[in-house]
Amino acid sequence: MIPVTMLLTGDDMAFSPLFKRRKTTPVRCGSVAIGGNAPVSIQTMTKCDTRDIDAVVREIRQAVSHGADIVRVAVPDKEAARALEAIKKQVQCPVVADIHFDYKLALLSLEAGADKVRVNPGNLGGKERLITVAGMARAKGAAIRLGINSGSLEKDILEAYGAPTPEAMVESARRHLAYLEDAGVEDIVISLKSSSAKDTIGAYMLMGQFTNWPFHIGITEAGPGLHGRIKSAAGIGTLLALGLGDTVRVSLTGPSYEEVEVAKQILQSVGIRVFGPDMISCPTCGRTQVDLASIARQVSDALKGMTVPLKVAVMGCPVNGPGEAKEADIGVACGRDGGILFSRGKVLGRVASEEIVPALVRLAREYAESPEGKN
Ligand code: SF4
Repeated sequence: MIPVTMLLTGDDMAFSPLFKRRKTTPVRCGSVAIGGNAPVSIQTMTKCDTRDIDAVVREIRQAVSHGADIVRVAVPDKEAARALEAIKKQVQCPVVADIHFDYKLALLSLEAGADKVRVNPGNLGGKERLITVAGMARAKGAAIRLGINSGSLEKDILEAYGAPTPEAMVESARRHLAYLEDAGVEDIVISLKSSSAKDTIGAYMLMGQFTNWPFHIGITEAGPGLHGRIKSAAGIGTLLALGLGDTVRVSLTGPSYEEVEVAKQILQSVGIRVFGPDMISCPTCGRTQVDLASIARQVSDALKGMTVPLKVAVMGCPVNGPGEAKEADIGVACGRDGGILFSRGKVLGRVASEEIVPALVRLAREYAESPEGKN
């Protein structure tokens, strides 16, 4: 067997063994720690007008109820910055102010209680303004995110590299990071985003060699529907596998709570965090004699909201199904007239077709109440 580390050793880049998280200095963002040994947190960004305080509060609460740890809001003007004070009083989670162009909006947001400000140094207006914002963040006990975006790199860097390459993004990040570190600023989070998953991965891999500050990861403007989800999963999943992520935001053209759900799925799929049951169901084939898609969907819907780390297998035939069903915590191998139920690797017996879903749900609830489920 070839050791994983050998598979990952490139000629020109020092790779980490898979899933070995990069060592970072933890940064506080309100009640949530980013980096260090803190769990990889989930972020999203509200889509409504930040000046509409009730709408923002509603959206933040909805995102949190779906599992968001931190929520960011756009601050395009002074009214939006001032709204943060009222918003902060009505929500429990840390709130991040998203700033472009106007550094004064960052200062106002920090005055209003933002737990972190995300600035894009490429459009903030220079070193002095960046240091002013970072100084205020420090005075307020807030964090600052250097949000490097491939679309707004400095002119001289673009000229030197000819395009917004990963190296160009890292050059920009290092330049601004040096400004902050020279000024004694701490509590810095870094992001290097491009709409290309490949460039994003390259940029974080490179930047990981130069700093210990935590990384906020995501694929920016990933797009709508399936496209956005797959692009995000590929990019974020790869970064997490390389140990290069401390907080995650999935950017979708869709509701913020969906971004949170997708982020949770990605984190759970790569085994970084567990939020609930893990559904395994076979792809079906010519041996399948039941409507497996419907059974799998019904079981998945019935287990929604359950937070127990439980492996549930729904398999389509009694030929190959039992193997996988036995490996799971609970499972069923379906046949023409019913299914064979399994629990913790043992056969429990046969159930009629109409009993498959209720029986699995009952087993899942029993598991949740058992000492294993409560661990
Ligand atoms: S478990 Fe059975 S039905 Fe499902 S894909 Fe495998 S062989 Fe086909």
